[in-house]
Formats: sequence, structure tokens, C-alpha cells
Amino acid sequence: MSGNFQKQWVGVFGDPVDDNPTVVLQQAGFDHAGLPFAYLTIQVKKGDLKRAIEGMKAMNFAGINLTMPHKIEVLDYLDGVSEDARLMGAVNTVYAREGKLYGENTDGKGFILNLQKQGVAISGRKAVILGAGGAARAIGVELAKHGAAEILIVNVNRERGESLARLLDEKTGARAQFIPWEGTYALPADADILVNATPLGFIDENEKPDIDYARLKPELTVCDVIPNREVTPFLKEAADRGCKVLNGLQMLAYQGAIAFEVWTGHKAPTEVMIEALRKYYAG
Ligand code: NDP
Repeated sequence: MSGNFQKQWVGVFGDPVDDNPTVVLQQAGFDHAGLPFAYLTIQVKKGDLKRAIEGMKAMNFAGINLTMPHKIEVLDYLDGVSEDARLMGAVNTVYAREGKLYGENTDGKGFILNLQKQGVAISGRKAVILGAGGAARAIGVELAKHGAAEILIVNVNRERGESLARLLDEKTGARAQFIPWEGTYALPADADILVNATPLGFIDENEKPDIDYARLKPELTVCDVIPNREVTPFLKEAADRGCKVLNGLQMLAYQGAIAFEVWTGHKAPTEVMIEALRKYYAG
């Protein structure tokens, strides 16, 4: 009798990490595909990342996700980083190849895949992003890479907003501009894609970005990054006005599907992963 009890390890390093739901969608995908992969949710404190990365190398992990506070520091410990992730200055997915570690950022790619699956055109379009944090950076870079003509960064903190607009304007083919978010934001009439990349609506289910919702037209595609509910108040306002709406739950599942494929070399069972996440958030 011979067996093979060895697992292919992947997982996430973060702190806090206990409520990170990625295991739900990845493990559902691995089990459905019959792959011997196991996803671990691991607390790695700030200051311990270097040793944790050495540990995953020693234990032959196939890859790892990074969440707060490690997405930037991890760049120091990798053998290679994709051009997009370097531009964003953040890596959320590491994969191993022949003893070396490489970094990717799948956050923005999941967002793009969500748009593409819904048949939303990006090339030549004008996008407005609310927020200028990590999610906005990833989405901005990928929108620019996929041919968006113009990107407006609407943010309260001027320094963060200007820095992202400058990065996009100088380092990508898109024109980008910072718009200070003072009071209620009035969306320009020629915008094609509007993205909420702030955490508004995540903790408080009644909260939504302070914008003039009367300006949303049915031609607009409206996207939310909030992963834990499919209909946020922001998306409800948009849907009520006839806009096409895309939620953050699917974005999260799609970015996970990209990591799944990089780690396993198999096509991700995306629908199974979305359904697992939906079930988890439905309680
Ligand atoms: P950051 O902390 O890096 O950035 C948050 C941004 O939101 C900042 O620009 C901040 O503005 C802005 N913001 C926060 N509160 C307000 C407010 N009350 N009014 C206006 N602007 C506000 O967070 P991340 O970018 O990492 O994450 C943002 C959200 O995206 C989170 O909810 C996260 O869960 C979600 N996310 C979802 C993903 C998915 O796959 N669905 C992937 C990644 C993230 P300022 O700069 O002025 O402080």
C-alpha cells in the first residue's frame, strides 16, 4: 500500500488576519478541482515577514497571499516582481518557481476581469475612482493598462490623491487628474465608469460615499470594492438609476481565481469560488 499525504501549501500572511475570508474561496476551488492544495490563514506580525518568507521557502510553499501590513515590505524579499505590481508598489500574491519567489498584484486584475465578464469596454473610456488607497492604486494602474483614456482620482487627502494621479499620468498611457473631495462630489457628465474604492459600506451597511447620486445616468457602469455585501447602498443608488452595477464580492473572487491559476496551473472553478464566498457572507 502506498500513499501520498503531502500537501501543496498556500495561504495568507497578515495581521490582523483572523477574519480574512480568502480561505473560503480558495479551499472551495481546490476541493472542487480535486487538487492537493491547502490554504492556511497565518498571523505574521509586522517585523516578522522576512522570517516568514524564509519559512515558506523552506517548507516549499507553492505561494502566499499578503495582506495588511505586508503588501509593500514583501517587495524586498522577492526574486522578481511583475511590472504592474512594481508600479503599484504593492504585492498581494507570491508564487514559487524553481526555488525562486515572484510577486504579482491580483487586486486590480480581479476588478478588470469582473468588467470584462460583464462586457464593459475599458479602452478609450473615462473612469472616476473614489479613494486613493491600495485598492484605488491597483484599479487605477490596471484601468490605465487596459487602455482607459482618462482617470480622475477623487480623494479627501490631497497628498495621497495627487500622488496616485501623478503616478498614472506620468507612468501610464492614461491622462489622470486629482480632484479634491470637498463636500458632495459632482460626477462629470462624460464619465463612463465610476468606482468606489473607499471602505464606505463595509462596516456600516448604511454608509455610502458622499456624491451627487442624481448625476448617475443609465449609461454609466458603477463598481464597488466592498466585498462583504453584494448590494451596498452605493450600488443600490446606481441600480435604481438604471446603471450597470458590479460588486466587490465578484472582484474578490476573481482576484482569487487569478492567484489559483498562478499557483496550480489549472483553470479556476470561478463560479464555485463565487458561490462559496456568497454563502459565507450570507452567514
Ligand atoms: P486604504 O486604507 O489603503 O484606502 C482607503 C481610501 O478610502 C483612502 O483613499 C481614504 O481617503 C478613503 N476613505 C476612507 N474613508 C473615507 C470617507 N469617509 N470618505 C471619503 N474617503 C474615504 O484601503 P484599501 O484601498 O486597501 O481598501 C479599501 C476598501 O477596498 C476596503 O473596504 C477593502 O476591503 C476593499 N478591497 C476590496 C477588494 C476586493 O477584491 N473586493 C480588494 C482590495 C480591497 P484618504 O486618503 O483621504 O484618507
